[in-house]
Amino acid sequence: MERTTWTTAEREALLLARYATHSSDTRGRRIPETEHPYRGPFQRDRDRILHSAAFRRLSGKMQVFTGERGDYHRTRLTHTQEVASIARTIGRALRLNEDLVEALALFHDIGHPPFGHAGEDALRECLAEHGGFSHNRHGLTIAEELEWRYTDQPGLNLSLEVLESQTTRVDKRGDGPAPLLEAQVVDLADSITYDAHDTDDAVKLGMVTLDELATIPLVRDTIDAVRRRYGAVTGHRLRKAVVHDLIDRQVGWLLEAGARELAEARFHNAEELRASGWRLAPAPEVTEAKRELEGFLYRRVYRHPDLVEVRRRAQRRLAELFQTYLQRPELLPELYQRRAAIHGLERAAGEYIAGMTDRFCDEQHARLVE
Ligand code: MG
Repeated sequence: MERTTWTTAEREALLLARYATHSSDTRGRRIPETEHPYRGPFQRDRDRILHSAAFRRLSGKMQVFTGERGDYHRTRLTHTQEVASIARTIGRALRLNEDLVEALALFHDIGHPPFGHAGEDALRECLAEHGGFSHNRHGLTIAEELEWRYTDQPGLNLSLEVLESQTTRVDKRGDGPAPLLEAQVVDLADSITYDAHDTDDAVKLGMVTLDELATIPLVRDTIDAVRRRYGAVTGHRLRKAVVHDLIDRQVGWLLEAGARELAEARFHNAEELRASGWRLAPAPEVTEAKRELEGFLYRRVYRHPDLVEVRRRAQRRLAELFQTYLQRPELLPELYQRRAAIHGLERAAGEYIAGMTDRFCDEQHARLVE
């Protein structure tokens, strides 16, 4: 008779490589839980992240462009979904734990404050004397202290693998064992994703043209490859084909090098891989080509005077709102008033603001400051 169900362990024993993070090897959670009958531990992590308020609010947080520029471009949520998609592709091809990859991808930007990196810089300044601010570290605070499930304990009680992988994002000094390969994949997918979608958004929004981008060898080669395959495509079709190819080529190169090196290394398990310090990485010439594209995006898009001005105004609003909460702490929701008593008012006000969407932050500013 045909088997209709598989346990997670059976499924993973069949599909995952030896160097992958197997669910049966999980170190568990801070508060022990019994196993779920049909969901593995990292599936449960993914679901807890997906169902958290902080995750949903990513839809109202900007990636690079604010809502003033229409509704074509990426938000922090769609960026996250694209990262998850590309990371799962890489993870599946390398026979890694796709559930863990997905959980880490959905989690990776959950600590982002409103207004992207500009908001992060503003919060860091507000909290300079009070421990600073990092969106990666704030992701851990959300997971461990700010989110509440249906239990009487704060936090999502995620697996130690997810928490530890996020910790390696906070501290990138690189000493100690390498991050789990699943976490490395998410980091690499993040970079592939934003290079491609920021290029797409910038061209679509008319900030740069594909002709200007073609001065960068990586983009020029990509355009040539697209034209060889599809003929003389132009306009939107060319832009979309270039973005598709930028992702596809980078993923292909990474997999080619990664699969070859993994086959040669013959790691027996995930721990051995980590202890060896081996890192999944694109070839040096790919890293250099990406650096050129990122330099171009930095000069022409991220530092564009219009964007700099929008960000400067957002930073001012955020800082004014922060000051308002310091002067009138009774405006903070109860959870944050309680946290103020323990962690200090500045920290609690900063955490509250960090959780806001761009629009909610603007609304609070309009209501309380203006
Ligand atoms: Mg990201």
